[in-house]
Amino acid sequence: MKTASIPLHTRILLALFLGALAGLAVHSLAGEAQWTIWLTDNIAAPVGEIFLRLLLMTVVPLVFASIVLGVTGLGDVRNLGRVGGKTLVYFVASSAIAAALGIILVNLMDPGSSLDPLVRAALLEDFRDQASSMQAGSPGFGVDMLVNIVPRNPVEAAANMDMLAVIFFALVFGVALALIPRERAAPLIAVIESLGDVVIKIIEMVMRLAPYGVFALIFVVTSRFGWSLLAQLGVYVVLVLLGLTLHTVVTLSLLVKFFGGMKPLDFWRRSRAVIVTAFATSSSSATLPTSIAVAERELKVPPTLAGFVLPLGATMNMNGTAVYVGITVLFLAQVFGVDLTLGQQVVVAMLGVITAIGAAGVPGGSLPLIMVILASVGVPPEGIAIILGVDRILDMARTVTNVTGDLTAAVFLAHSETSRAGPTFENPAVENPAS
Ligand code: ASP
Repeated sequence: MKTASIPLHTRILLALFLGALAGLAVHSLAGEAQWTIWLTDNIAAPVGEIFLRLLLMTVVPLVFASIVLGVTGLGDVRNLGRVGGKTLVYFVASSAIAAALGIILVNLMDPGSSLDPLVRAALLEDFRDQASSMQAGSPGFGVDMLVNIVPRNPVEAAANMDMLAVIFFALVFGVALALIPRERAAPLIAVIESLGDVVIKIIEMVMRLAPYGVFALIFVVTSRFGWSLLAQLGVYVVLVLLGLTLHTVVTLSLLVKFFGGMKPLDFWRRSRAVIVTAFATSSSSATLPTSIAVAERELKVPPTLAGFVLPLGATMNMNGTAVYVGITVLFLAQVFGVDLTLGQQVVVAMLGVITAIGAAGVPGGSLPLIMVILASVGVPPEGIAIILGVDRILDMARTVTNVTGDLTAAVFLAHSETSRAGPTFENPAVENPAS
């Protein structure tokens, strides 16, 4: 069989598997040998990074175009209030359930206190080595975060990939465009539609390289770390994976069934391409193009709604991150012997929801915010060094939960809007970069 006849998402999955296997083999055969380090640093890491950047470079124009077209496509601007309101309530509610799940699991399993004292001592030792080379992140959860959503200069926001600010500008731009007379708006809408088409075409081209990028990305992780780190932090890793699996398989399936009017099995089967892309890239933003295409093509979400909900979701809705924050903060508190009261744990859960809204959808996007939460409950923020080694793998897993959570939001919105008004949304054809 020629490779071209195998669907792209199957090739990506194959690359993921082969890359992991190759990395593990190199790690166990050659370990720390000079040539493996050279191979990883000079070939695999740059190839993976270039693939990620190719996807990320499309994110600003894609988010801008899809949100502006999403808003103008909603027809009446009054629809925006309703759809936007429902979207936000869904985001916050599902992230809150996720954060609470994380906190409950840690309390049930107590991963930090039940650590072998020797392992715990080794981890704290590791932490001392790494802490000196780290700096606490600067972002905060206060009023600043709110103020920064409004960009001083949209070009600056775009240049810094400050996505909340880009989204804000796109929303305002879209509303204004919908409010000016139709004949004045039409030429600009046509230009933005073309912009959207061009970006989708770029993504389609980039996704052809995905198997190579994915092979390289996973190879870097497994060749560097092998299994050893995973074993050391075993209970914590298992707990995070358990929390993510429970939220994804149980909570999201229930949401799809009861709020999205869709059979969960169908939903998961049709979302395969998104799951694989999220797992491979660890980035909600890099997965966004695939999510939009899959939502429209496979899940039959009207393009206007997909273009509106999914770019918002990639930045503001991170269920997996919410699960992860609760577990990680409480675990590190246990490792450092800091006892958190129930009230403090509730605060951690709330900060987890805010992290889910504020974190950037890039690999490790939530880590700076987790450091701020650690500091706020009296755990040294540099303590995050303890889990950094395993973070990439957990990041891959939580990003899957993040983006599939976004898809459930799109399915929910589509179900509730079409059952309310009938399928009246515009239907421009969008190519599917992941098929
Ligand atoms: N990598 C995650 C995402 O893009 C964010 C995180 O670090 O939790 O969804």
